[in-house]
Amino acid sequence: MKRLILIALVVAGCFYAAKTLSNKSFILYYHNVAEHKGGLRSLYVSSWTFEMQMKYLHWRKYKTIPLEELVSRIKNRRPIPRKTFAVTFDDGYRNNYSAAYPIMKKYGYTATVFLAVNEIGRTLAHYRTVEEKRLNTRQIREMSSYFTFGSHTMTHGNLALMKKFQAKNELSRSRKEIMKITGREVKLFCYPIGRFNPEVKALVKETGYDGACSTYAGLVDGKTDPYELPRIEWKGLTASSVDNFWKLKWFYLKIILGI
Ligand SMILES: [Zn+2]
Repeated sequence: MKRLILIALVVAGCFYAAKTLSNKSFILYYHNVAEHKGGLRSLYVSSWTFEMQMKYLHWRKYKTIPLEELVSRIKNRRPIPRKTFAVTFDDGYRNNYSAAYPIMKKYGYTATVFLAVNEIGRTLAHYRTVEEKRLNTRQIREMSSYFTFGSHTMTHGNLALMKKFQAKNELSRSRKEIMKITGREVKLFCYPIGRFNPEVKALVKETGYDGACSTYAGLVDGKTDPYELPRIEWKGLTASSVDNFWKLKWFYLKIILGI
């Protein structure tokens, strides 16, 4: 009898999870797709791990949804298609071109790369990172037939600490510069180091961006604020993922159950 009750509870739990999670999407975010060289470990996912993650999602019949479309669906209150996810890369590392781009193409997946314009084509380090090469304009142009590019400001500075005119300049100049390279409209923004406040958020809207990515963890649904898009940093398939399991339980449950 006890066993029957337990089975009934598990079945009911799975139905509940399937019902609540099936209309939710998620946005993955990565930095380097390369072996860890130093600095923050979370800024690196090896190309093997990255491919395993994409392969797994492909096997579970997940499709990518362009981030612009996801944002437009939230804004226009249109349903988010089931089993969809978006992929974002921050800072525009060159290994996004050499390692991630071929893997994404192989699975028919698309992504958005957020560029800090002053860093394009350079090799430099950020706070708590080692020196890494960034994408150059030729690579950006080539990738833009398949990926979209968003703004991550000009300097990768903390917008919440800047004067209004300075922040405004970072937002509008970067948008124009990226447009010049890709020849496409730049609709998305990503807050450098995840820092923003209500004034910064208002400026992002005012500049004409349709949405902005944060570093908050969570799933996306029709009630998500498009200017505070949560994202999931799916780190290595290692112990750190297990540590995060509880925090990101809905994400893991969703992909484990394939819903
Ligand atoms: Zn960044």
